Amino acid sequence: MKETTQRRGDGETQSKACFLRLSLSPRLPVFSLSGPSFILSIAVLASVVHFASSSRAQTQPRRSGAHSAAAREGFTPADRALVERAIGATCAERVRDPLGSVPIDEMQTRPSLPVSNPDALAGARRAERLLPTTRKLVANAIVQLAKDYDLYTAALARNRVNAAAARVEAVRRIKPDVDSRDNASVLLHDPRVIAFGTIFLAGLRSDEGMVSVLAHELTHIASGQADSLRPLFRAIARRAAARTGLRIQGQRAEELGCDLVGVMAARAFIKQTPSWEPLPRRLARAFEHNCVDDDASDEDHLSPRNTIRALFALDVSLASEEVSDGGAGASWIGPRLPFTRPTLLTASTRSS
Ligand SMILES: [Zn+2]
Repeated sequence: MKETTQRRGDGETQSKACFLRLSLSPRLPVFSLSGPSFILSIAVLASVVHFASSSRAQTQPRRSGAHSAAAREGFTPADRALVERAIGATCAERVRDPLGSVPIDEMQTRPSLPVSNPDALAGARRAERLLPTTRKLVANAIVQLAKDYDLYTAALARNRVNAAAARVEAVRRIKPDVDSRDNASVLLHDPRVIAFGTIFLAGLRSDEGMVSVLAHELTHIASGQADSLRPLFRAIARRAAARTGLRIQGQRAEELGCDLVGVMAARAFIKQTPSWEPLPRRLARAFEHNCVDDDASDEDHLSPRNTIRALFALDVSLASEEVSDGGAGASWIGPRLPFTRPTLLTASTRSS
């Protein structure tokens, strides 16, 4: 961890939630752990994967039907306005929500927290509790994205995606780390552990926020040293860039792809865990750590607010949900049933 942060050497205060992958910088002899034939096979595989051309889809007339390829590619001025409203709604919700996440620029200004800090401990327990669920949600989301982006049709590409999903299952441990502060990270040579700064653990106060960040890290592990998901990250970045005008290349594409899996995992988690809390509130928690005042970008990351923008642009249905009237409890299917209550109500203990 210390090693990775030092290598950044950009002289700036680190503002991003996740630093990793530095051992895979193209300037470093990173494949020394692997045999040459393995490298070659990966290179061949990488060249085989094809995407459906997004430009082809964009030239098609827009049809009705939310699931048509044309509708997926179409992004109207109304959609753009919706995305902006959703950003506002997300960050306003953060302020109102007692479980709202601390923005990462605010985390940065805080003093380091010992591992024994009660909030950091609570965060670590939350992360450990949610890790098994999040592993499954990430594997599902990656397969879903591969299908959505037409990367699941060729057998080779399908194998790569399935192998990536399998790597996620091997992650076992959350390691609270004082020096990581407001970052979480994974080292790809030790892909069973997620290092989690104690400030970050304490700053994510909701299950939804935690699932989103855990899923981000797990997606880096899924791509792994082989960069298996690079074609997918590129396809996602191309679509986001076309819709937002942002420059999203290189490592930025991977970070955005990991964030997209993060919000998809959080959305699926919300579906699986009914609650009386309104959907917009729960959904906002997947994005809130990016509700910064100091909206700085760097070479490897979009700025935090542009990250939210790109994510909503990629999945406009999430933006719709965020600005919907959640007062009707849209996130619940039904409350958890208090099974024990009838027993208590009918029990009679009077013996005299
Ligand atoms: Zn990351």
